[in-house]
Amino acid sequence: MSLRRILHGIILQLRHCCWCRQAEAMETITFSPPLYKQRYQLVVELVEKLQARKVADLGCARCTLLSRLKFCSCIEVLIGVDTDLELLKENMYRVSPLPGDYLQPRPSPLSVRLYQGSVAVKDPRMLDCDFVSCIELIEHLDAAELARFSEVLFGYMNPAVVVITTPNADFNILFPGVTQFRHCDHRFEWSRSEFQAWCLDIGRTNAYSMEFTGVGVGPAGTETLGFCTQVAIFRRDPSRAKIKMKNSELPYKLVYEAVYPSLQNRKILHDAILNEVIFAAECVRRSFIDIDTGGQSEWRTCRADGEECARAAFSPEVSGPSFGGSPEVAGCPELSWSPEVTKIGAQLHIPVSTFFNNPRIRQLSDSLQQLQEVLQASNRVKLSHCGSSVLYPAGDEN
Ligand code: SAM
Repeated sequence: MSLRRILHGIILQLRHCCWCRQAEAMETITFSPPLYKQRYQLVVELVEKLQARKVADLGCARCTLLSRLKFCSCIEVLIGVDTDLELLKENMYRVSPLPGDYLQPRPSPLSVRLYQGSVAVKDPRMLDCDFVSCIELIEHLDAAELARFSEVLFGYMNPAVVVITTPNADFNILFPGVTQFRHCDHRFEWSRSEFQAWCLDIGRTNAYSMEFTGVGVGPAGTETLGFCTQVAIFRRDPSRAKIKMKNSELPYKLVYEAVYPSLQNRKILHDAILNEVIFAAECVRRSFIDIDTGGQSEWRTCRADGEECARAAFSPEVSGPSFGGSPEVAGCPELSWSPEVTKIGAQLHIPVSTFFNNPRIRQLSDSLQQLQEVLQASNRVKLSHCGSSVLYPAGDEN
């Protein structure tokens, strides 16, 4: 085992002890939902309200907030920054695509990047952010870093909206076990007036307005102490977006990058259309079971669970069932069968227009013509000679 890993193990142990002591000291008050969830919820709601496209979480630690933000459909670029390389490596799986992301690709693109770097250092890849969160970060910075951080974030990155959260020292009186700070790695904890003075100074220097709020309400009768976590939401003066001087150096180290599958990618879009068409065709097939009744075939519509729903006489050559309505098949609510579906030999002929009427398929295909082109270009489905119907095995040979 390398010395580096041993040292990292020791640091993790120390951190764990530190967190235990902190938890013991603070266990007098419980918050519901837990405080960290309330902080994340505030950020997620703001991002969605703003429809932010490029979002960064500074001091992202275990990537917990990022793992929630990746579900915001408005975000196209999601960045996490932390100085702790091992922590990023241990947790990068939390922002990687899941099987569900491939089965149901996002409508818009999303790339997630994790950088090892300091918030006190400028990196041009952090420019043009719509939204930046700094959750329980500033109290971990020493005075020199804190000064550089505000210059880098507000003066250089200059994002449209910034959220900063930090412990409210006024509230600490409710934690009798807390003698100095809530966490041993904190360099300071500010009262509300100290925090607000720092924020107002940043706002004046960099043309940001701000709103102060918080999360974590104390017990009844302690309202004058404010929230357990104090929050500042900064908004850039719309007329004061800075002209970005792009430095060519890239001091941050890219630790992880994931490009999520999205429907903006032509191949993924076509695959998604084909998956839906095949799924819908299977629904049609499952909605009919052709049973041989001695020379005269009869269609029987069944639910997927096997329960019989309806019967109809069927002429085996070219016609479909002679009854109207569309019996629902479990798992296939939108398209089970249509009177235009015919069975010729061992194959169902399902008009392409029938698929186009399926809301999910219509959402993915611009037009009937585009749907036809996608089907023609694929070898995953078979089309009739004229290309107007999908030929799908009836699967009733036995
Ligand atoms: N934001 C996290 C969350 O809400 O789950 C928790 C943040 S944790 C309390 C503070 C994090 O800031 C640590 O992961 C630490 O490594 C990181 N950090 C400390 N100094 C930093 C710096 N100069 N630049 C970037 N990250 C830093």
